[in-house]
Amino acid sequence: MITKSIDDLKVLVKSEDLNKRIKEVADEINNAFDCQKPLVLVCVLKGAVMFYAELSKYLNMPVLMEFVSLSSYGDNLKSSGKVKSFNLNLPNLENQNVLIVEDIIDTGLTLDFLIKFIKHNCKAKNVKLAVLFDKKCARKYDIKPDFSAYEVDDKFIVGFGLDYCGFYRNLNYIGYFED
Ligand code: 5GP
Repeated sequence: MITKSIDDLKVLVKSEDLNKRIKEVADEINNAFDCQKPLVLVCVLKGAVMFYAELSKYLNMPVLMEFVSLSSYGDNLKSSGKVKSFNLNLPNLENQNVLIVEDIIDTGLTLDFLIKFIKHNCKAKNVKLAVLFDKKCARKYDIKPDFSAYEVDDKFIVGFGLDYCGFYRNLNYIGYFED
């Protein structure tokens, strides 16, 4: 059940700032990879959908778009401690450059699971990680994003793909609930 209203949302990052920052992250990615070689861009649904779509527009290399669907939060404001996978259908990624695109890294549980899966099951060696938000203070797994747009402290944020009980993903800005 949704108990928080949009009226209680405070703006953390405005739409125009998000778009500008995502372009900068795309430039970092263009500089870090060989632009002649395809890049397999793995979107972690549902939260990364907006960041993924915006970021991919500014990449210069040939991009192969792949999607997985994972959840560790469910409808809660804290991690459940377990990763549920709804779709993990990925091709063999041997000899491919792979970039995982995620909305936010919190404890690191979801990405620890996914990185291990892609390395072991898809045989990928070069796996990098881009996140829109890095909640460093909550980290329990030893994972550092290679590309990160923003750091955020321990608040629950919504918008631009990030949800509360499935809602608010469509907002074009990032907000947070004050309490
Ligand atoms: P982790 O596995 O790193 O603990 O959690 C990552 C997942 O938790 C994210 O993909 C996202 O679904 C969810 N998450 C973590 N922090 C937040 C937050 O502040 N807001 C929202 N909406 N989801 C979050």
